[in-house]
Amino acid sequence: IRTGSNREYVLFQPEMRENELNNIRMFQALREDLVNDGFHLVLQPIVDLDYAQTFTEGECLIRWQSAELGFVPPDVFIGLAERTGTIIKLGRWIIEEACRELAAFIARGAPDNFKLHINISAVQLQQPDFSEHLLASIQRNELINSNICLEITESVLLQNSHEVIDTLNYLRRLGLSVAIDDFGSGYSSLSYLHLLPFDCLKIDRDFVSGIIDDQKSEAIIASVIMLSQSFGVPLVAEGVESAEMGEKLQGMGCEKAQGYHYSRPQPFTAWEPNDGTITVN
Ligand code: C2E
Ligand code: CA
Ligand code: CA
Ligand code: CA
Repeated sequence: IRTGSNREYVLFQPEMRENELNNIRMFQALREDLVNDGFHLVLQPIVDLDYAQTFTEGECLIRWQSAELGFVPPDVFIGLAERTGTIIKLGRWIIEEACRELAAFIARGAPDNFKLHINISAVQLQQPDFSEHLLASIQRNELINSNICLEITESVLLQNSHEVIDTLNYLRRLGLSVAIDDFGSGYSSLSYLHLLPFDCLKIDRDFVSGIIDDQKSEAIIASVIMLSQSFGVPLVAEGVESAEMGEKLQGMGCEKAQGYHYSRPQPFTAWEPNDGTITVN
């Protein structure tokens, strides 16, 4: 039986049966829905804190409405897809669909230079033909490379880190950008900043949620803001849920934000671009 990390094996125990059965059911449903159109993408704005009414950047997030299991959150099925290797096929679908949605969005009036963030799993990034497929999707949909930002986490460094770093550098030379997601939530944050090439940092929601009444969270955010400034990259605060949080972050020097206060993730078609301007709702 495989658990969380790829290399850990534990003996089967009776109380695990229920869980394993659920996993098998979910795995089968996942595979079936890959051919049955059970997935779609939603878009959540990333705003500039200086002018948070409109946006020209956003993150796409996957949604699975399973015919058999109902709505399953990505936190639940992405891990399973990673452990079973299904993420390779699913990940290709995500990239192609993200490019298709973005091209349609631009055709409806979104700015040509809209930046779409796509979450990329470590397993996906380790595929030797990752760049080839990604660049083909961008070209097929007549986008430009700078339309795409890859969101990765430090877990990409756990295996084949040299290859991964080469891939990221290659893609950045071609104009794509790289954001480090969930920054601060791992255990080796500072050492991987040294290894990974990146153009943007995203600070984990766990710290942002404490910005108003937890001094430690505030201190961590203040130091990540300084860090991003010394690297000369923008910092995105995730999970901003109130005007008060947004104002406090802005006052501290944070450039960008994402969260329910500005907008929930919604289907691309829920936004109506007007002369290249998209208003948050
Ligand atoms: P993440 O990349 O950190 O994505 C941000 C999550 O925070 C999203 O959850 C988003 O809906 C949620 N969120 C945004 N604003 C707020 C807020 O103000 N408050 C709160 N409480 N939550 C907020 P979601 O969509 O459920 O995704 C969960 C995780 O699943 C993502 O975390 C990411 O790790 C993974 N995921 C989602 N879509 C994809 C995908 O297309 N590919 C891959 N590989 N992973 C994905
Ligand atoms: Ca993300
Ligand atoms: Ca994140
Ligand atoms: Ca997260």
